[in-house]
Amino acid sequence: MSAERTFVIVGGGLAGAKAAETLRAEGFDGRVVLFAAETEPPYERPPLSKGYLLGSDERASAFVHPSEWYSEHGIDLQLGSPVEAVHPAEHVVEIAGGERVGYEKLLLATGSQPRRLEVPGAELDDVRYLRELSDADHLLDQLDVGHRVVVVGGGWIGLEVAAAARTHGADVDLIEIADQPLHDVMGAEVAAVFADLHRENGVDLHLGTGVREVIGDAGRVVAVITTRGEEIMADTVVVGVGARPLVDLAAAAGLTVDDGVLVDAALRTSDPDIYAAGDIAGIEHPLLGTRIRVEHWSNAADTGTAAARSMLGHDVSYDRLPFFFTDQYDLGMEYVGHAPPGAYGDVVLRGDVPGRAFQAFWTDDNRVLAGMHVNLWDTGIGPIEELIRSGRAVDAARLADPAVPLEEV
Ligand SMILES: Cc1cc2nc3c(=O)[nH]c(=O)nc-3n(C[C@H](O)[C@H](O)[C@H](O)COP(=O)(O)OP(=O)(O)OC[C@H]3O[C@@H](n4cnc5c(N)ncnc54)[C@H](O)[C@@H]3O)c2cc1C
Repeated sequence: MSAERTFVIVGGGLAGAKAAETLRAEGFDGRVVLFAAETEPPYERPPLSKGYLLGSDERASAFVHPSEWYSEHGIDLQLGSPVEAVHPAEHVVEIAGGERVGYEKLLLATGSQPRRLEVPGAELDDVRYLRELSDADHLLDQLDVGHRVVVVGGGWIGLEVAAAARTHGADVDLIEIADQPLHDVMGAEVAAVFADLHRENGVDLHLGTGVREVIGDAGRVVAVITTRGEEIMADTVVVGVGARPLVDLAAAAGLTVDDGVLVDAALRTSDPDIYAAGDIAGIEHPLLGTRIRVEHWSNAADTGTAAARSMLGHDVSYDRLPFFFTDQYDLGMEYVGHAPPGAYGDVVLRGDVPGRAFQAFWTDDNRVLAGMHVNLWDTGIGPIEELIRSGRAVDAARLADPAVPLEEV
């Protein structure tokens, strides 16, 4: 088949899989080739630090589709096949080993990779990261009563790993360089909720300190030394210090890239036949009036779908608000909106904060930029999203008062 009827997707994660699904659902009958660097069919990552790591969900439940789905839908899924170069002028991608595949339209969905810990000892085998299913397989195998886990980084992944490890009965120390986990994203009051939750569940928090060194003996981790000089005994170190979007392929192809691959609201890059979705896409967001790059599950699913529709020539203007969720012990939370550190002025709380059944709103100039609920599943996230989308000014005192309906704040 000629390249004119070939759509190529680079990246076998959620965004890539959703794009392939959408192309077929929308009736595209040309060739679809999905190149995946990993050897597993596309899977979702949230279970890697939640249900699967907790041992409550089956491994198979993480996969976006059963493996036979791809051939059944005529998707040419090429596992273990990293694309090494894109040649936009020729409309060709180049695979490891030199194979070249032509495309009419190309989607880049290469995702992120974990930032590495760069201290002496960080190369030891028991210093682990959590990005791929095999990482979760290994950790699940290790987490047991009495196993000593040191988590480096009090962000979402670090906290979820800590919760899973405690649930398995492991001993957990968590090292966070800020004075509170999640301090910059959530603000002091909400961050305190998460810190208290972990302390109550037996996590030893070491705050305001970093890692100076990981000590090993005969190739095994023995301890972590903090920058304050504490020695924390460890069998496994799990590092969760953020991720880096994989934009190198796009940059080498000459596409416009900064922190992410820059795309318009139709998910089109600076090349009209190349699109980007998921973690790597820096999207010109029509509702927010700014460019955002989002490392969330729902963003990967929704932009993968939207990019596929755009590739098919549909009129797409991607204006979904970022949405995120976490589960830790008995705390479930959903967050919607866009309030990066430094962008919000105040955090308004509403409901029972000590009882962990409340809402929080990140505001600036009396507008709600983002909001979340903790354990309020009856009301959920819908009314909060509506409030943000409305863009209307709110009264902080009314916003904080659970007796005032959200539509009337
Ligand atoms: C442990 C963990 C827990 C998470 N939990 C949550 C959560 O609770 N809620 C939430 O909203 N988000 C969560 N996330 C974030 C969410 O999973 C990501 O935002 C999402 O996976 C991004 O999807 P993606 O398809 O853009 O990229 P990825 O999932 O990273 O997939 C990209 C794929 O492309 C492949 N690839 C890269 N380069 C190439 C190449 N050159 N050729 C071929 N293939 C290539 C990669 O190997 C990878 O398999 C979590 C992430 C992790 C790691």
